Amino acid sequence: MQGPQACVFCRVVAGELPSYKVYEDDWVLAMLDIRPVGRGHTLVVPKQHFEDVLDIEEDLMLHIYRVAKKVAEAQKRALNPAGIGIAQNNGAAAGQIIFHFHAHVIPKESVNQNRYEPSPEELTEVAELIRKNLVT
Ligand SMILES: [Zn+2]
Repeated sequence: MQGPQACVFCRVVAGELPSYKVYEDDWVLAMLDIRPVGRGHTLVVPKQHFEDVLDIEEDLMLHIYRVAKKVAEAQKRALNPAGIGIAQNNGAAAGQIIFHFHAHVIPKESVNQNRYEPSPEELTEVAELIRKNLVT
């Protein structure tokens, strides 16, 4: 189990690590996944450290899903993907890699979409596109 000090998302929230920011409010940060499954793959992360669905406060989790919907709407406007997946993994056995609660919002063109490796310039451009299309 990771403590908040070692947690990469806590370090991003604290400004110790950079991110491709899409949205921010008092409670959450939305940013591009740097190892995306689809173009515009965004993570919605609470600013406070909670490990998983069993740990997080219910109202905060609901707020994260409110923001996930805003992100999905912005992705549709900005990128017009064929589909949008929203996923949230809890525990290593479920595919959780960073043990700080997060929801994935993933634009998809097909069910069997593979990872790709965008350049920093591409990530900067996509983050800006989504940010400009996000209506709060
Ligand atoms: Zn954390």
